[in-house]
Amino acid sequence: GLPKLNDSALLRNQAYLNGAWISGTNAFDVTNPADGVTIASVPNLGAAETQSAIDAANAAFPAWSAKTGKERATVLRKWFDLMIAHADDLAALMTAEQGKPLVEAKGEVVYGASFIEWFAEEAKRVSGDVMSSTWSDKRMVVIRQAIGVCAAITPWNFPIAMITRKVAPAIAAGCTIVIKPAEQTPLSALALAELAHRAGLPAGVINIVTADSERSIEVGKVLCDSPVVRHLSFTGSTPVGRILMQQSAPTVKKLALELGGHAPFIVFEDADLDAAVEGALASKYRNAGQTCVCTNRFYVHESIYDAFVAKLAAGAARIQVGNGFEKGVLQGPLIDEQAVAKVEDHVSDAVAKGAKVLAGGKAHTLGGRFYEPTVLANVTGDMKIMREETFGPVAAVAKFRTEEEVVAAANDTEFGLASYFYSRDIGRVWRVAEKLEYGMVGINTGLISNEVAPFGGVKQSGLGREGSKYGIDEYLEMKYLCMGGI
Ligand code: ADP
Repeated sequence: GLPKLNDSALLRNQAYLNGAWISGTNAFDVTNPADGVTIASVPNLGAAETQSAIDAANAAFPAWSAKTGKERATVLRKWFDLMIAHADDLAALMTAEQGKPLVEAKGEVVYGASFIEWFAEEAKRVSGDVMSSTWSDKRMVVIRQAIGVCAAITPWNFPIAMITRKVAPAIAAGCTIVIKPAEQTPLSALALAELAHRAGLPAGVINIVTADSERSIEVGKVLCDSPVVRHLSFTGSTPVGRILMQQSAPTVKKLALELGGHAPFIVFEDADLDAAVEGALASKYRNAGQTCVCTNRFYVHESIYDAFVAKLAAGAARIQVGNGFEKGVLQGPLIDEQAVAKVEDHVSDAVAKGAKVLAGGKAHTLGGRFYEPTVLANVTGDMKIMREETFGPVAAVAKFRTEEEVVAAANDTEFGLASYFYSRDIGRVWRVAEKLEYGMVGINTGLISNEVAPFGGVKQSGLGREGSKYGIDEYLEMKYLCMGGI
């Protein structure tokens, strides 16, 4: 279930449209993945309400975009302060609906809030350009303006951060937005809206349309079909990203896509072994392996392979599994039964093809959606786990001989989001970092995300970058002014 909140008004069971809380004719349940208990019911909205949300965002756009960056920054800053002040409640809501351990949830609240703080600052720094004209009687100027009404479709693995990373730059730039949060985790999104409301964000600037998995498809269609919606930002699976891209073609919508990953983690023979094991544990088991930047494939040099897998297995065996609200728990449940089934499928496929289980390898004795932190050794390229995103607490470790061979293996995928490698050889560090076909490379570290860095992938992992000084560009159009008759 859900523990008592300090501020019970943060638990909302209505959607947020045009500055007001609305109910629908139908509702769907939000459950705690640790115990299956229903925490709340939220409106199951569809096409009509989505259209109303777009209309509200469109009506709010002229006034919001006309404000100065500094004025928008003030509201964003208040929203950030409220998030930090209510971090404990936001974390409790998140652990209840998503399952991640409370300390991790609290970490996400702070991480999620950091995007609001960062883009509050960036709102004041949107500037244009004056070109050196080649006509003596003309001047050439570039101004940058808010793109218009935006839409965001977000996943359940980071119920707050995946919203703030899109919404903060959008509204900092002067855009208004319609958000469709994941059906598993709408409560975090609604609590954010409550705090945005208290911060004084005008009606219609953000709108939250809640829908179950079936009606999310309908909501997505309306968002894509609308010519009013100029930009769609999505974080989720590659197959759904492709659908949204296709649906957005008729309106030639600008797209930002953060899709699947299949991160390789390479440990060279000159690596600091203990540091590599520590980085591996952090990169693999965070959020029970349910992040798009989690390592999916480990490649370890043959000369240190046995030592590495032994240390990794010992580390994995120490991870305490349980309800995220319990003290000391470092790994919560997986999000749903399908997630558990996928993990089981990847493990049994690997074992059938010769992998050796060094830790875990089965459902946890707690039952339900709990799975043991697992380490598989003797993994080879023909196993599913080396090709498909597992999204679970399974470390698959393969052996390699040469740098050339391992870089080729790491790049042999349609994904290109995050990658990691450990080496102390400066020449190799540059060489390998340049050769990896990934949007992000962690070198001698397993944790890379923060608001200052550009987050995003290449190849079929997506389009665009979120966070950083580049993140606001997504929500701004360039306009060239050519002024003659001077
Ligand atoms: P995951 O496997 O992480 O649940 P999905 O890509 O299925 O990833 O879901 C991410 C988000 O996309 C969720 O908010 C979900 O409701 C939404 N979604 C899934 N399918 C569609 C679709 N066809 N159209 C619009 N949104 C969708």
